[in-house]
Amino acid sequence: VSDPVSDALAQLLEETSSVSGGEVADYIPELANADPDDHGIALVSVLGRTYTAGDASTPFTIQSVSKAFVYALAVDEHGLEVVAERVGFEPSGESYNAISLEEDSGRPANPLINAGAIVTSALVPGDGPAAQRAAVEAGLSAFAGRDLAVNDEVFRSEVETGDRNRALAYLTKWSGALPGEVDDAIEVYVRQCSVMVTAEDLAIMGATLANGGRNPRTGEQVVGEEAAQAALSIMATCGMYDHSGEWMVRVGLPAKSGVGGGIVAAQPAQFGIGVYSPPLDEQGNSVRGVAGLEALSREFRLHLLAHPDEPRSPVESSRSDDDGHVVALRGEIDFIAAEQVVHELETLGADGLTIRLDLSAVTRIRPAAERLLAATAEDLAGSRCTVVADDPSGVVEQRRTARGGVLPTTTGSGR
Ligand code: GLU
Repeated sequence: VSDPVSDALAQLLEETSSVSGGEVADYIPELANADPDDHGIALVSVLGRTYTAGDASTPFTIQSVSKAFVYALAVDEHGLEVVAERVGFEPSGESYNAISLEEDSGRPANPLINAGAIVTSALVPGDGPAAQRAAVEAGLSAFAGRDLAVNDEVFRSEVETGDRNRALAYLTKWSGALPGEVDDAIEVYVRQCSVMVTAEDLAIMGATLANGGRNPRTGEQVVGEEAAQAALSIMATCGMYDHSGEWMVRVGLPAKSGVGGGIVAAQPAQFGIGVYSPPLDEQGNSVRGVAGLEALSREFRLHLLAHPDEPRSPVESSRSDDDGHVVALRGEIDFIAAEQVVHELETLGADGLTIRLDLSAVTRIRPAAERLLAATAEDLAGSRCTVVADDPSGVVEQRRTARGGVLPTTTGSGR
């Protein structure tokens, strides 16, 4: 069965299948066996619906894409501040396996370069590497909503060729960033890179981050909102190796790539996307994956910082009736909508007037907007004008202003 979203994804694959160039990674012998023509994409909404095209269920190793999710697991376990004592936040401007330790703190620059990822893996809960390995596999599986397997050939192959990673781990141990033993951390880290996923898995994993850490398929809260937000933030600044700055300008979505040919991207509160195509560019990003996500972002205006259309007025009507004045609002009330309501209220605010805010067509009030409206009601009370909200569906959450007041309501007492 076709649907408009999958059709759009299929068309995108077709457009980008002619994009050539790039090399399949071969520094780990097993990776060289990937079929360069494999090409798949999947999108999962935060409501859990899935759309796919091409080789969306072909397995490949997750590689560096895992780093963002393991960072979320570590932050979820210890809190951001504890993790921040050992791993920094800044793009390194160097290749993923660079020796990049901050001079004063000895922290690796960020959790998405190898040095930082190895330290992050060592922060996953568990007594010893076997327990930590299991925790990482369980965590990644929870993000994907199914039991993910490890590719043992890739694992062994990476252990054999992993001297540079061991060297990085020794440096982080020397600088004090790495807790525990080098070999233990490497075992957990390399194991995590050898986990097999599909483009569809990556899309669900991305959708879980986009959904505040709750897997939209299984309903499991895999990590808390703070951890999901931290992972998305670091993906936005450091996710695409030494191409992260240009990526943010051109695509404008948090993303993470891996040398297996996978890329995960997410649009907060909307969806996750997974793309798979093994040939890599010089920075180590999937050539067709980058081309596809660039085209998708351009065509559907997905850039997070794109200028949205002019704010529409949330005031549906403003009229006098027997009891005073009724201002009917509609849609979602964010800061810029509330600012317009404040202006309307201040224009109306006259001595002794009662203004009713009809919220029956309001879908949601953002915290800042509610506090702004409540503070305005407080101000107008000073000139003996009463503002009271009719809130039949309970969108008002009784958030307090700096002076301690809440937006008065006639119906619905908040949720
Ligand atoms: N396991 C790989 C390594 O550490 C991950 C590389 C990557 O995907 O960037 O060499």
